[in-house]
Amino acid sequence: MSIELNALGKAYTADNWVLQNVTAHIESGEFFAIVGPSGCGKSTLLRMIAGLIPISTGELQIDGKVATDLPPKDRQLTMVFQSYALFPFLSVTDNVAFGLKARKFPAKEIEERVTKAIKLVNLEEFKDRRPRDLSGGQRQRVALARAIASDAKVCLMDEPLSNLDAQLRIKMRTELRNLQQELGLTVIYVTHDQVEAMTMADHIMVLHDHKIQQIGTPLDIYNRPANTFVASFFGTPRMNLLPARVTADRELTLADTLKLALPKPLPVADYIVGIRPTSLYLLPQGEGEPNAQVKTVEYLGAQILLEAELSDGTPIELTADPDENYQAGDWLSVGIDGNAYVFDHTGEVQFMVEGGRQHASRSHASAQA
Ligand code: ADP
Ligand code: MG
Repeated sequence: MSIELNALGKAYTADNWVLQNVTAHIESGEFFAIVGPSGCGKSTLLRMIAGLIPISTGELQIDGKVATDLPPKDRQLTMVFQSYALFPFLSVTDNVAFGLKARKFPAKEIEERVTKAIKLVNLEEFKDRRPRDLSGGQRQRVALARAIASDAKVCLMDEPLSNLDAQLRIKMRTELRNLQQELGLTVIYVTHDQVEAMTMADHIMVLHDHKIQQIGTPLDIYNRPANTFVASFFGTPRMNLLPARVTADRELTLADTLKLALPKPLPVADYIVGIRPTSLYLLPQGEGEPNAQVKTVEYLGAQILLEAELSDGTPIELTADPDENYQAGDWLSVGIDGNAYVFDHTGEVQFMVEGGRQHASRSHASAQA
């Protein structure tokens, strides 16, 4: 079942718009993530799709039919919440069967569906337990089993993994994704966690500031961010955003320090240039013109993260080789070695400058020429 959002808007109180102009197409069988910071309207959007709150403006279509004002029970959707919403006094089996019983399914069909759903989420040996005798991950699986048993073709999930500890969360991501593919479920999945969205989704909708910032595949979002918000929201460590100005026909100077050659001329104006920490490089210590001073050194494992300050005082983060011995106070020579994104002063992307080494030091630049 596909879902169509046509210019959806929501105001809880008059003229106080929480969401505006939300338009998207969600394909049947896809895993669609809605991601954004806390308070951006993710749960609001999901509840409008579920029919739990009224839609203020726009139109919702489910399976090609207008569903804007349809009661929740007629939408053929099921929902999994962060809190799991299990009945503490019922066994796993009875929790999974609850909705089917309420909807007066025949006993035999209930038994079949419940058995199958419990098997799918690997809870057979726990089926007689009550929720309090289960771990967080197992409880979450009960909630999933309930969604699966309902046989709804679309499953809405609101931060279903956020109450789990980090290790279990990572395991459940994979399990959930596998199950979704196995069953051919359409999943609309809300999360504030960019990594979760990146690793699980076919498409991601990024919400912020009452509106959609971008919709795309995880790769699109990472490699072609539409604006500075998306650029800095996705990716760990975060993309550096540096002030830039035009200093020659096809050249930007970033933070008064780093030169960036452009594929085409830009009107004279202020710009913001985004560079991921992994797209910066360091000349060996003692080589090149020093342009950045190390402030802190953080070990990430395979790499270290250096927080530094460019010579004009602009903070910058970059990754480096853990075998090198960097210390706070060291002066380094930083250059660009990867993609750089040019944004206008409002944060809208203008174009991307594809990888290639560019450095502040004159000797290095001429060596490249
Ligand atoms: P998210 O799920 O992204 O954290 P929500 O959809 O819960 O965000 O909330 C979006 C905005 O709408 C917030 O500013 C929140 O305070 C407001 N909001 C949420 N629910 C209500 C409500 N029932 N009445 C009024 N305002 C609400
Ligand atoms: Mg929420």
